[in-house]
Amino acid sequence: MFLAACHVGAAEFFVAPDGDDEAAGTRAAPFASIQRAQRAVAPGDTVVIRGGIYRMRPARIAREERIFAYVTLLDRSGEPGRPIRYRAAPGETPVFDFTDVRPPGRRVHAFRVTGSWLHLEGFEVIGVQVTITGHTQSIGFDNQGSHNVYERLSVHDGMAIGFWIGTGSHNLVLNCDAYRNHDDFSGDRRGGNTDGFGFHGPRGSVGNVFRGCRAWFNSDDGFDFINAGEAAVAEDCWAFYNGFSPRFAPLADGNGFKAGGHAGTPVARLPNPIPRHVVRGSLAVRNKANGFYANHHIGGVDFIHNSAARNRANYNLLGREGDNRTLIPGRGHRLLNNLGFAGGTEVTQLDAAACEVRGNTWQLTEFPVAGDFLSLEEAELTRPRRADGGLPEVSFLRLRPGSRLVDRGVETGHPFRGAAPDPGASESIPAARD
Ligand code: CA
Ligand code: CA
Repeated sequence: MFLAACHVGAAEFFVAPDGDDEAAGTRAAPFASIQRAQRAVAPGDTVVIRGGIYRMRPARIAREERIFAYVTLLDRSGEPGRPIRYRAAPGETPVFDFTDVRPPGRRVHAFRVTGSWLHLEGFEVIGVQVTITGHTQSIGFDNQGSHNVYERLSVHDGMAIGFWIGTGSHNLVLNCDAYRNHDDFSGDRRGGNTDGFGFHGPRGSVGNVFRGCRAWFNSDDGFDFINAGEAAVAEDCWAFYNGFSPRFAPLADGNGFKAGGHAGTPVARLPNPIPRHVVRGSLAVRNKANGFYANHHIGGVDFIHNSAARNRANYNLLGREGDNRTLIPGRGHRLLNNLGFAGGTEVTQLDAAACEVRGNTWQLTEFPVAGDFLSLEEAELTRPRRADGGLPEVSFLRLRPGSRLVDRGVETGHPFRGAAPDPGASESIPAARD
């Protein structure tokens, strides 16, 4: 009854590639742009985005201020229980192509979201450009609001960071993909800022979660939480081939999960307390540098039930002293039930005596071998998502029944199968039906 009451009066508007912003915004006479649709909506309304290619035009940039060009600016909010939805028409794929949007001297933010209680679902962003040769970055989805959901979106084949939570609380990035993004224009052209997903919120930006997301072939990192003032969570996420071009030419940093760090931040400007990020149930495969990386973090990170394979170092816990910038083996980490296979190094820069370290494969007398896994076919990782947007079903890096690694983990409070938890992400990777 409550749900039904909430939908009374909710309106539906339509956007289509052959629409017209002077039209009524109905199914028969759709708008041409999300920007126009936003002027029509109220909390609880839905904007249905029809499939096809939307060629974004430089003349239609919503706002240019200082060094930024916000191409689509969503600054109108929904309300608790009455979000404004911008979603693809069922079974259709809208693709927003930003290739022609090249504002001189400005950073391109394809979608700038300052509103709250918004739900964006089911469309793609391609071709976002960088036009500045000095230190810069462009962004696919730039979140500055709260209680927003980004679902089943992708940012690919551009020069921008995919998804960026700059500030705001209780945002969820769900089942999104960021891939083949490389800024080959600015700086040294290695794309040192182009991450798949980033959380960099200041103090007060709490409760932000990345779930079911994939990042691959981004020129910098897959997931990056550097300089964050609060903790973020990455769970059931996959990061692979980051720091490489699609032909495996080495590019920039190349970490799967850069789970924190305060780089050169002076002691007086460090957040207090230092945030404790959580990375769990996640997969890092063949990233150029580290699979799971503490990145000079001060204090600990929770790394629980992750699987890493073929990274230069599968797990690198490098830390930093809290009262100066001296780099030290990491302290305060919780490393539970993590699996490493075929890394250049399995685990490094870990002060094990100052951490909780249990149930990880590097603590076993024998490391995992190929025969412990159902499949080592990395191509499975880019399979299409399931109908509900969830990660594809794979056999890759799942433990083979009867492997001596089965049930060798420790109980952490998370659900598991069999007599005990398995090390790695096996128990949270969707199983292939083969
Ligand atoms: Ca980065
Ligand atoms: Ca088990």
